[in-house]
Amino acid sequence: MRTAALIVAAGRGHRLGGDTPKQYCAVAGRAVLRHAIEAMLAEPAIGLVLAVIHPVDGPLYDAAITGAPGDRLLPPVAGGATRGASVLNGLEALAPHAPDVVLIHDAARPFVPGPVIGAVLDALATAPAAFPALPIIDALWRGAEGVVEAPVARAGLYRAQTPQGFRFLDILAAHRAFSGEAADDVEVARAAGLEVRLVPGDEEAFKITTPADLARARERREGRVDIRTGNGFDVHRFGPGDHVMLCGVAVPHEHGLVGHSDADVGLHALTDAIFGALAEGDIGQWFPPSDPQWKGAASHIFVKHAARIVRAAGGRIANADVTLICEVPKIGPHREAMVAAMADMLAVAPERISVKATTNEKLGFLGREEGIAAFATVSVVYQGEVPQ
Ligand code: MG
Repeated sequence: MRTAALIVAAGRGHRLGGDTPKQYCAVAGRAVLRHAIEAMLAEPAIGLVLAVIHPVDGPLYDAAITGAPGDRLLPPVAGGATRGASVLNGLEALAPHAPDVVLIHDAARPFVPGPVIGAVLDALATAPAAFPALPIIDALWRGAEGVVEAPVARAGLYRAQTPQGFRFLDILAAHRAFSGEAADDVEVARAAGLEVRLVPGDEEAFKITTPADLARARERREGRVDIRTGNGFDVHRFGPGDHVMLCGVAVPHEHGLVGHSDADVGLHALTDAIFGALAEGDIGQWFPPSDPQWKGAASHIFVKHAARIVRAAGGRIANADVTLICEVPKIGPHREAMVAAMADMLAVAPERISVKATTNEKLGFLGREEGIAAFATVSVVYQGEVPQ
């Protein structure tokens, strides 16, 4: 079954206030329309996604979908003067792709859950049309000018949601034949005599209409916290010199550490821990030892670069913990300076940075004072949705 999703995004929707149509308002850094598109793309059963947009919204649309997975997303088509005309434009644009069924979805419903889409598609196996709906649970009253006139029986009443699903040729013919203003595509389908099934909706598929709805959408996504943890390890051997660089601090010692850069083993482990949390490779990939520009480089460059990548991805470093393993030199007297140096590089509070040290109990190459090793752990926190 070839399935297409048509997202209706041509409305002006200025009720939210401001100049931006509501489907382009940002929720967790992405336009409402982008969330709606991604909800459809998240369903493997949906082979094509097409948005109908207002003719002047091309630049807004392009900005909204930048970086979206593109292979199933068709270029948008322009809407018409009414919602019905916009849907018809979209259906005509889908016709050459010959889908079997089409889901017509409101751009202002960014969070439609997968099971709702699945229930609509399942119903289309045995019915020409289906849509998600929720039974009315509040008491209903008819009233006018602030005075109640009569109760309305709520039994059998439903609130319609989207996506509304149809066999493609049926709804195309229905829209071509329909004249006038329909509340939704179910009304168009029924006017053509199609049987329409009800499937269970979900409160999560709510529509953004008012500023309170937009705030609710933002709360849903921006309240989320996503924590990533990475670890790093490094070791450098002792060589000639009169000091070692450790966690950004020059520590006087009878040897130096050998390395292509300044051989700051603590900062190298720290940098790798950040890249690990980001799943972005390792320090050797970002700063290849074969590249002469890193010869003798101060390692805070590596740390600062990795921290900038975290910020660019919308994250922040929650804490860093570095353990140095060596018999000599003594770390304790320099611990505070190391914490301050790393806090500065990472642009985080010193309270979030830890430096620990241990000997290797005279065992192995570390015990024989041949070098220094370091472990580091870093947590990166994203508030709201993580850019994929
Ligand atoms: Mg190293």
